[in-house]
Amino acid sequence: MIDQKSNQIKEESMDDLWNVWFTELHEGKSGLTFKVNRLVESLQSDFQRIDIIETEEYGKALVLYGSLMVAEGDTGAYNEMISHVPLLAHPDPKEVLVIGGGDGGCVTNVLKHPGVKRCTICEIDEKVIEVCRRHFPKLTSGLDDPRCRIKIGDGKKFIETTDETFDLIILDLSDPIGPAAELFQKSFHQSVFDRLNPDGIMVAQSESPLFNPETVKAMYGNLRDIFPIVEMYSCLMPIYPSSFWSFAFCSNKYHPLKDFQADRYAQTDLSDCNYYNDEIHKGSFALPQYVRELLK
Ligand code: SAM
Repeated sequence: MIDQKSNQIKEESMDDLWNVWFTELHEGKSGLTFKVNRLVESLQSDFQRIDIIETEEYGKALVLYGSLMVAEGDTGAYNEMISHVPLLAHPDPKEVLVIGGGDGGCVTNVLKHPGVKRCTICEIDEKVIEVCRRHFPKLTSGLDDPRCRIKIGDGKKFIETTDETFDLIILDLSDPIGPAAELFQKSFHQSVFDRLNPDGIMVAQSESPLFNPETVKAMYGNLRDIFPIVEMYSCLMPIYPSSFWSFAFCSNKYHPLKDFQADRYAQTDLSDCNYYNDEIHKGSFALPQYVRELLK
């Protein structure tokens, strides 16, 4: 390497040589890129490839089948929004079910609400839980809460065979490919509806309206055939493609804004939230015009 000042050849250090980047491509046309300091762990489970990388910007991150899921230094927006928005639209959520969510972030946020008596998580891949426990102790802390019940298995099978009902069901799933594909279908959403209490709420991560408009359009069309109330809300998630992420709020009875539980919000200790607050709760339902058009 040439030293710019002296114009002399300088011995290269390992730091100069280590120039590795992780890129998540969007249809081969654009991508989200992170500088990687080291590959921490890599394995192939029965369901997917699992990598833990250490990024320069966000610290350790979980990558499933080449897609970045969560990072220790990300804003926390996704996990806070998928949990606190529905929990604070329901007057008394006691029984919660999370399908997917093996990184533990959603469950950990759900259990910040003392009124929740039990949070069941049904994750298909126990290796995701095992790896995340090892590398993200804070994110996964809720998995050790005595109110948490862990079921390893396919969420579709669980929903179709259980006779339990829930106040809130959260679909914290990976993208609609591989093991999660069928859980984006109308028949699965109908089965989820059938396992909700009469005033229950379902929330599902619903991809990026900017990058996945066809998936979003089809999904909301199906959900509206099943649920009386279907509203999209969004968050800014810099580690996801397009950084603009959406969630489907689906309910039999409660409206996410009209039924916002302001008193319970004031009494619940959410002081370690980095993104969610009462104003964000309301503001997240405001949608850009092109998204309104998409959902018409
Ligand atoms: N925050 C993430 C995102 O959208 O990028 C999703 C969180 S979480 C890591 C997704 C989890 O869903 C994965 O651990 C995956 O194993 C799990 N999953 C996929 N298909 C599933 C199924 N059929 N039943 C239960 N869990 C499933």
